[in-house]
Amino acid sequence: MMSGTSKLSGKIAIITGASSGIGAATALAFSQLGATLALTGRKVENLEAVAAQCYDIQTSKKPLTIQADLTDESDTKRIVEETIKAYGHLDILVNNAGILEMGNIQNTSLDQYDRIMNTNVRSLYHLTMLATPYLIESKGNIVNVSSVNGLRSFPGVLAYCVSKAAVDQFTRCVALELADKQVRVNSVNPGVTVTELQKRGGLDENAYAAFLERSKQTHALGRPGQPEEVAMAIAFLASDDASFITGATIPVDGGRHAMCPR
Ligand code: NDP
Repeated sequence: MMSGTSKLSGKIAIITGASSGIGAATALAFSQLGATLALTGRKVENLEAVAAQCYDIQTSKKPLTIQADLTDESDTKRIVEETIKAYGHLDILVNNAGILEMGNIQNTSLDQYDRIMNTNVRSLYHLTMLATPYLIESKGNIVNVSSVNGLRSFPGVLAYCVSKAAVDQFTRCVALELADKQVRVNSVNPGVTVTELQKRGGLDENAYAAFLERSKQTHALGRPGQPEEVAMAIAFLASDDASFITGATIPVDGGRHAMCPR
């Protein structure tokens, strides 16, 4: 898929949620491919640790780190402002940050619903809106991190599924809106990927171990995914190798989207 080590060389990229999991793996993959980075997250220690690893890969390029809570509008604004101030332009926006909470139609509170939708959809909408003028200028692109839960329906994670279906529709609509400006917009739709997401969403160590074990059955390839596998798909979509791909929602899920119970 990738050839050479400088596929993203000269590109300025914002990656949200770079302090953990898929976002952190994407920061490292983008560094390996030569990109210049603005990394955002809330936990500043984790963010700085990822930035240091990026610096180890490309010593000339210490990423800009921006501590920001994406549910705070002024923080979201600051992400674009600080990136433009530091680098002057923007080529790639990776909307990766997200949260998961469990709950069904009988027991999901509106507070939970708001938290999930504000983080996974509203903040992504806002950041994209603010980044768009710069992406038009650079004929850049956007990669959203959605989920197999956007493409397929699962019980027990209702608000999360709704939020990711919204991300997929957002991806397609914005792709059409910006196509005449040569700005591409795509999503990756991961299956279960080994990160902090499910534990932060309420699974304790035992429940998480059982969940990963069950992933051997729920994913055709017989295992959950690793963040690096999602990062490679994000890097592909963000690169010129994907120059004729827009409005796509690409499963990176070991075949889970294609499965039906039988
Ligand atoms: P992690 O929990 O490991 O990482 C989530 C990241 O999002 C962290 O960097 C976190 O920052 C950031 N984040 C969350 N809320 C906010 C907020 N309000 N403001 C700023 N940053 C925030 O999870 P993943 O790496 O797994 O998740 C990344 C994306 O992948 C999410 O959109 C998720 O829905 C999606 N995904 C994950 C799957 C999985 O199985 N892991 C499957 C399908 C999709 P900090 O830690 O600094 O607070």
